[in-house]
Amino acid sequence: MNLETSIEYVKGIGPEKAKLIKNVLGISTVEDLLDFYPLRYLDKSKVHKISQLKNVSTDVQLKGKITSIQEIQTGKIKRLSAKFNDDTGSMDLVWFQYSKWLKEQIPVNKEIYIFGKINVFNNQFSMPHPEIEVEEKKESDNRLRPIYPSSEKLTKRGLNQKFFQTVLKNICKEIPNLIEENMPEYMMKHFKFLSRQHTYLNIHFPKDIEHFEKANYRLKFEESFFFQLGYALKKLHHKTQSHGNPFPIVGDFFTGFYANNLPFDLTGAQKRVLKEIRQDMKKPIQMNRLLQGDVGSGKTMVALLTMLIAMDNGFQSCMMAPTEILAQQHYNGIKDLLIGTDINVRLLTGSTKASERKIIHEQLENGELSILIGTHAVLEDKVKFKNLGLAIIDEQHRFGVAQRAKLWAKNKIPPHILVMTATPIPRTLAMSFYSDLDVSVIDEMPVGRKPIITAHRREKDRAYVYNFCREEIQKGRQVYFVYPLIEESETLDYKNLMVGLENVMDNFPKYNVTMLHGKMKPDEKDAAMSYFASGKAEIMVATTVIEVGVNVPNASVMVIESAERFGLSQLHQLRGRVGRGAEQSYCILMTSDKLSSDSRTRIKTMTETNDGFKISEVDMKLRGPGDILGTQQSGVVDFKRLDLIEDSAIIKLTKKTVDKILENDPLLTRADNQLIKNYYLRYYRGKNKWSKIS
Ligand code: ADP
Ligand code: MG
Repeated sequence: MNLETSIEYVKGIGPEKAKLIKNVLGISTVEDLLDFYPLRYLDKSKVHKISQLKNVSTDVQLKGKITSIQEIQTGKIKRLSAKFNDDTGSMDLVWFQYSKWLKEQIPVNKEIYIFGKINVFNNQFSMPHPEIEVEEKKESDNRLRPIYPSSEKLTKRGLNQKFFQTVLKNICKEIPNLIEENMPEYMMKHFKFLSRQHTYLNIHFPKDIEHFEKANYRLKFEESFFFQLGYALKKLHHKTQSHGNPFPIVGDFFTGFYANNLPFDLTGAQKRVLKEIRQDMKKPIQMNRLLQGDVGSGKTMVALLTMLIAMDNGFQSCMMAPTEILAQQHYNGIKDLLIGTDINVRLLTGSTKASERKIIHEQLENGELSILIGTHAVLEDKVKFKNLGLAIIDEQHRFGVAQRAKLWAKNKIPPHILVMTATPIPRTLAMSFYSDLDVSVIDEMPVGRKPIITAHRREKDRAYVYNFCREEIQKGRQVYFVYPLIEESETLDYKNLMVGLENVMDNFPKYNVTMLHGKMKPDEKDAAMSYFASGKAEIMVATTVIEVGVNVPNASVMVIESAERFGLSQLHQLRGRVGRGAEQSYCILMTSDKLSSDSRTRIKTMTETNDGFKISEVDMKLRGPGDILGTQQSGVVDFKRLDLIEDSAIIKLTKKTVDKILENDPLLTRADNQLIKNYYLRYYRGKNKWSKIS
């Protein structure tokens, strides 16, 4: 038997059961089975008495008899209830979901053991969905017993807990021949790991809780360690092997702009980040940098200055945004900033007219066009550059890997890549999934910004909220009303939006109201945006299309309707549309009276902090890491044991460990690192391709 052996040949399985196990659990080799970890363990060394039960959260074991079973119907819901007695008292066993088969399996008037969690209601104990065991126990069974993930489909065909326990017991006997060490002696000593063989033994049949904990720790550590190692090796490889165009010069474009056009002093953070970018671009190695900065922290200016450095070195730049509105806005903003210079900037989106498109294509190819701003349209094959030296991607989580890769190919020597995101990535996630990138953080807001005041209001406060908005408008400010738009209920949502629009128009008869939503044509959107941006409309009613990047500094109130329907990062992004000028700004979260506990947490978080990083941490706890990384990267978080939220300490420790090892031995050539290297090559190479930004 070796790790690749098909489970068909494992004692007690055979071809038929192997097929079933493969179909239901996706397990086909001995190795898969070893990695089929128990969900939990039963402590079979103790038998509790009903009269002495306390309200405990762990599983308990009881010994006694079932004396009767009955089906109970409440409304449409049926449940199965059994009376269980031991020599000290009686309690109910309950099944909320069950089949006829299960009902027939329940042994009546037989001496049995039951295991499970205890529920207490009105001082009465009950046990939902207990595990039942009929046989008399042997002394040797008094260990923590593994409970494997299962399903009725398997149990029905005899593949019950006992079956898996026996099969794994058989495999565990072979562990000395199957499992090789993958950590060097110096790590074993330093971290006091269990050996790998003992780890597997104790994850399936723990000697005691301490041994389980140690095994569990080692498996988590291993998972995180090799994952990090992959990223670190990739980054190292990139730094030593890849080519890039060096930008050694800071010339007239940059310094001229800096002296004459810069409308404000850069913040310390903006300066620091620019320096980091400059250091990267000086080298003949492609830059691969992630720029994180909360909404409103001034990433656009950093982007522009970076593009000017590219120009100083004779290269073209392109900047890509996820939506037309945003691309248009970047274009307008950058055009404004460049007034008085003769720098050629153009905008390319899906709705660019053919005549303009033709000019853009020509000028890109002959080098007359220095800066191209656009949407996905810039990725089309027809768009060819003379010498693209820098590509900036705004709001990277909206672009897929394949799209980014297309940018790479736009120049023979790949352009430097700067990816900007306003969605702060929790530290442990960044460590796990972006650790092949260099990261710069703008952690400082431009001076004079007042923190946005956020309030939670309900329907009964509506008149008050409207009044408040009127006061702000009278002071010369502008107001957003945002309605949720969630795809599953699009029609309904549009109806809500229209009703909302009417409602706002009725309540603000003296003011101009404009509307923006995703179904409008690009030129209609433009018109609506500029109507608001120019101040002609005091109020904008919109869907989340304004979520990303829209910049109207005079707007000071953001009213979010049905705020309970938005996710945290969305709420934070929306809030970021105000507070962009010097005025005190407000975000008002309107909700219904009844809130789920998650919604309450979201609203509370919003009212308590403006800090995007804190918000992203809470968001990750609520939604899980997979959702935070976005659908583009779904599937990346199927670690077997590692939990990106709970195990942040392990993630940090493994990152540190990996960095230290590679610092001394970047190619893993040292004799004592061969175990690591061999294991990595066998199991992990090629698996870490997800975050590859470019
Ligand atoms: P984001 O990081 O969200 O993309 P922007 O680049 O849109 O932020 O900047 C938000 C606003 O702050 C813009 O109006 C911009 O002109 C302004 N801004 C950027 N940097 C500074 C600064 N150093 N001082 C004052 N205002 C700034
Ligand atoms: Mg921006």
